[in-house]
Amino acid sequence: MVLILLGAPGSGKGTQAKMLVSALQVPHISTGDMLREAVSNQTALGVEAQTFMKKGELVPDSLVLKMLKERVQRADAAKGFILDGYPRNTAQAEALAQVLESVGKQVDHVVAIDVREQSLIDRLTGRRSCKNCGEAFHVASKPPKKADICDKCGGELYQRNDDVEDVIRNRLQVYRNQTAPLLAHYKDVLKTISGESEPREVLNRLLSSIGKGRA
Ligand code: AMP
Repeated sequence: MVLILLGAPGSGKGTQAKMLVSALQVPHISTGDMLREAVSNQTALGVEAQTFMKKGELVPDSLVLKMLKERVQRADAAKGFILDGYPRNTAQAEALAQVLESVGKQVDHVVAIDVREQSLIDRLTGRRSCKNCGEAFHVASKPPKKADICDKCGGELYQRNDDVEDVIRNRLQVYRNQTAPLLAHYKDVLKTISGESEPREVLNRLLSSIGKGRA
């Protein structure tokens, strides 16, 4: 089962994907998380990607595609996966269709999570992420129990360098120009849900949109 989560930065794709892993028993593939890991390890890919990421621009398609191809061929992805942050433009959607075909799969579901722009900005400016496990917190709506420490794994929380206002505005612009056209690209399989509620409620909406029961 291949599920694509679409939505602007801050719409909750990562949060939903993490919850969907246990509900659907397939892994979460986040190209953003993979790229951040490459940056933190200063691999050749990371060094190349970081200049784009810092500005909120997309990393060149060829670099991300190579990384994605390797990831979907791993054993844990044999039964399918949840894509968060890929595809980001129509060229990536076309490349994805070919990659899936080569591993005998297809896109089964595309769900867009819809959130108002002001909520996106509030969520992203207040977001703090765990360096270790990637869990997301929010200074106002989901503060950690202990300041700057992840409730889940004890890792250190940090503010992503692209979660600052001017970069956020650029990421939203990139989303509108390059990623939003995917809504039309996938119109035949697309389901759109509101992402304005509590994560658990959004999860139930998401599951019912793909014909699965409540979590
Ligand atoms: P995300 O964690 O999905 O918000 O992604 C963070 C940043 O990683 C984006 O602003 C891009 O610079 C880069 N990125 C993530 N996924 C992709 C992708 N599919 N194509 C190009 N760049 C990406």
